[in-house]
Amino acid sequence: MTATLIDGKQVAAALRAEVAARVAALAFTPGLTVVLVGDDPASAVYVRNKDRAAVAAGIAARTIRLPADTTESALLATVVALNADPAVDGILVQMPLPKQIRPQAIIEAIDPAKDVDGLHPVNAGRLRDARPALVPCTPLGVMRLLAHIGASIRGARALVLGRSVLVGKPMAALLTNADATVTVAHSRTRDLAAECRRAEVLVAAIGRAEMVRGDWIADGAVVIDVGINRLADGRLVGDCATAECAAHAAAITPVPGGVGPMTIACLLENTLTAALARRG
Ligand code: NAP
Repeated sequence: MTATLIDGKQVAAALRAEVAARVAALAFTPGLTVVLVGDDPASAVYVRNKDRAAVAAGIAARTIRLPADTTESALLATVVALNADPAVDGILVQMPLPKQIRPQAIIEAIDPAKDVDGLHPVNAGRLRDARPALVPCTPLGVMRLLAHIGASIRGARALVLGRSVLVGKPMAALLTNADATVTVAHSRTRDLAAECRRAEVLVAAIGRAEMVRGDWIADGAVVIDVGINRLADGRLVGDCATAECAAHAAAITPVPGGVGPMTIACLLENTLTAALARRG
């Protein structure tokens, strides 16, 4: 079997175009504010890409840049002001934050109705309870990719590799809510390969270059590779050895060009969702 490559760029472009069309039909302009603290070069690139994508979708995007020595109370004051600003529908504080700032204190200060990263405990709890919520962008993007290929989720054995708050946990909740039978594996899982071999849908989000090998994949499985790892030679690879896994899987996401492009597209979708919910 040779897997179909799932083209995340194409699916993301379609989603961005759909969001742009829905925004164009509104009587108001949704607003997204990204807060960037410090001068981490990778974060600066992510923030610029988010800003450009938002503007291209017709969203009023603004980036607030704060110095690396910003105190926690100063950042909290910025968040409180954005919570109160009626023109702001979505607030995203770019992680990681400088070490003097506790990320959880900031996340919990964001109005859950404007929490387009979906990290506030209120949104996490609503997602767990299968109630309407703002859902973290990357796992939401994975669900969009699974829907695009028409993957059978209901009743399927799904394995989520990784249990982070950002990816693994919300991913497991989304798959559970979609009626999959979900196993969550992590660094203490006894026999990872055996767990993977049982999976009809496998989502890998561990940050370990090409750790998932071809003989871990059940014939006909759908493999979604969230991992982004840079090798010493500069190449970007996922958590799965793509070519090996593709020999067994029915469908697999490449890295790059799979899940990555979906994250920003889903941020735009979340901003629109938040705007519609807030403004009735
Ligand atoms: P994270 O917070 O570091 O979490 C990693 C998870 O993987 C943890 O649950 C950890 O287990 C587990 N893990 C680590 N090593 C393992 C091993 N050897 N065997 C089994 N499990 C192991 O990472 P994250 O934020 O979830 O991100 C995961 C990957 O996705 C990274 O490569 C990241 O760059 C990528 N990512 C991509 C996007 C995108 O847009 N495509 C977005 C977000 C993240 P424990 O809990 O036991 O420590």
